[in-house]
Amino acid sequence: MPEPIYLDYAATTPVDPLVLAKMQECLLAEGNFGNPASSTHVFGWRASEAVEEARAELAELIGADPREIVWTSGATESDNLAIKGVVEASGQRHAHIVTSRIEHKAVIDSCKYLESVGHRVTWLAPDADGLVTARQVENAVRDDTALVSIMYANNEIGTVNDIAGISEACARRGVPLHVDAAQMVGKLPIDVSAVKIDLMSISGHKLYGPKGIGALYVRRAAVKPRPQIHGGGHEFGLRSGTLATHQIVGLGEAARIARAQLSSEVNRLKRLRDDFLHRLRVLDGVRMNGSEDNRLPALVNLSFEGVDGETLINAMTGIAVSNGSACTSASVEPSYVLSELGLADELAFGSVRFSFGRFNEAGDAAAAASEVLRVVRALRST
Ligand SMILES: *Cc1c(COP(=O)(O)O)cnc(C)c1O
Repeated sequence: MPEPIYLDYAATTPVDPLVLAKMQECLLAEGNFGNPASSTHVFGWRASEAVEEARAELAELIGADPREIVWTSGATESDNLAIKGVVEASGQRHAHIVTSRIEHKAVIDSCKYLESVGHRVTWLAPDADGLVTARQVENAVRDDTALVSIMYANNEIGTVNDIAGISEACARRGVPLHVDAAQMVGKLPIDVSAVKIDLMSISGHKLYGPKGIGALYVRRAAVKPRPQIHGGGHEFGLRSGTLATHQIVGLGEAARIARAQLSSEVNRLKRLRDDFLHRLRVLDGVRMNGSEDNRLPALVNLSFEGVDGETLINAMTGIAVSNGSACTSASVEPSYVLSELGLADELAFGSVRFSFGRFNEAGDAAAAASEVLRVVRALRST
């Protein structure tokens, strides 16, 4: 059987071949293998230089100063460092946090942990389009609010929040804003020099870099999260541990490529997605979940009336897609994100996330659509 077409780029991406080439230079004895913290010889200096080049590339992609980039193991760790770190640094025993009900589990579970040790959380409900508004955030902020954490783009439904508006609301109230931008960085333009985000989580493997590397943007002179991993005081004292040079140069190269291709890829992927959706119009009972206008170019979440999503996903052997949630396949709960949007369980169970990416070709939209048509029609006729 031929390999299915990969349409799950929101779950992870392969590394770009140029990324692999950079990474391979940093492993062997002949290569740049040194410890970037070794300050007594050329092996260390060389590694440190590569790390700083990568830091500058990632900073450039988001409009930051390189000194505002802290390397982590991924967006999960970045979310933990931002949320627990800022709340702990506030010194409050009962700090207040504002977040939403459809954040990634890394944010939700960090907030739940803080709740369990005495802090308070306001869980904002998104509107039917899956968006959280600046007004909602502003109304929820109190005098004891230590942090607002709202995601840029949602990983299940692809909606993009008005972070510019939310950041202005936070600035008016003098509360730091953390943004989980794992699905956004490299997909749509982000500029932290224009939008006052204080902390922002980034994941390498969502933008054609390797897994196991990410970063937290930390606005200078604005916030200083308490470190969650203690040790040698690496990364401005915010995150200890020997820097993984190969992973870091991989993410740096991924950032460079993303910046070079951003505008052309946005247009190409939008065309792929629109072609795919256009071809599905012959089918009744298809619903797009989440805002039609404020969304990522390459991600759509669709519900198919009268069809169980898991059955559908398993039967579409020609394409690799998912239901977009991190739940195990044994779980009988519908997606918490779709439930929060007010979808009836039946539609929430019938949802499928299609996410296109860099290595999809023009013909993939037609092939994917015909696979969906074939299987949905077959399932509905039984
Ligand atoms: C993938 C993802 C994460 C987790 O990132 P890792 O680097 O895999 O830890 C966090 N938030 C969002 C929105 C994501 O899509």
